[in-house]
Amino acid sequence: MSHNGFLMKAANEIDLICFDVDGTLVSHPTGMVIWEVLNLRFGGSRETNRERYQMYQRGDITYEEWVALDAGGWKSAGATRDQILHSVGEFKLNDGAEETVNELKQRGFILAVISGTIDVVLEHLFPGHPFDDVYTNQIFFDEHGKLDSWQATPFDGRGKPQALREVAHKHGIALSESAFVGDGDNDVPLLGVPGFFVAYEPRSRALASGADVVIREGKLRSLLDIFQK
Ligand SMILES: [Mg+2]
Repeated sequence: MSHNGFLMKAANEIDLICFDVDGTLVSHPTGMVIWEVLNLRFGGSRETNRERYQMYQRGDITYEEWVALDAGGWKSAGATRDQILHSVGEFKLNDGAEETVNELKQRGFILAVISGTIDVVLEHLFPGHPFDDVYTNQIFFDEHGKLDSWQATPFDGRGKPQALREVAHKHGIALSESAFVGDGDNDVPLLGVPGFFVAYEPRSRALASGADVVIREGKLRSLLDIFQK
């Protein structure tokens, strides 16, 4: 069997497709993720973003502590829901994202989001999305619309495989019948976990080389050729 034929066979067995959000379904004109954009808005700098990422990579802070540093900074700056949604509005759904995801749902796939984004991003940019399960960070506002608290997801980066196992188990689907679509370094821990991996506009070399298929030039709609059911 040809390499391609083998891949298509693997894709044909998929029942569950999980998506990353930042970079995969949505993008900011600068390429930044929502955390970086909000840090800049509420008093941080590019240097802050870089330092915290490195602290996390070195293991000096946990993911939860990283979230608390960022979100705590926004809260101290008096961040409101309106301001945060204004920043979210700078992001756009990637070309074809809505059409593609809705069509996959139509074809009968179970769909989920496993992402390090913040809940408001998906809710604001893709209201009425067809995802069966959504795993993201969450932020909460008080009765005056001020940022009040947050809940860090245990399912970003090294936690993503656990979320995939949970979703698959919940729907009675084998991991070999699951797929993941992502773009970044925080998706790398998922390589080899689902039966099929799609790297969309990969920002990570490891992800591009480990994926079954790489989609470039913004052709998110080609997921509809890969996952036919
Ligand atoms: Mg991403």
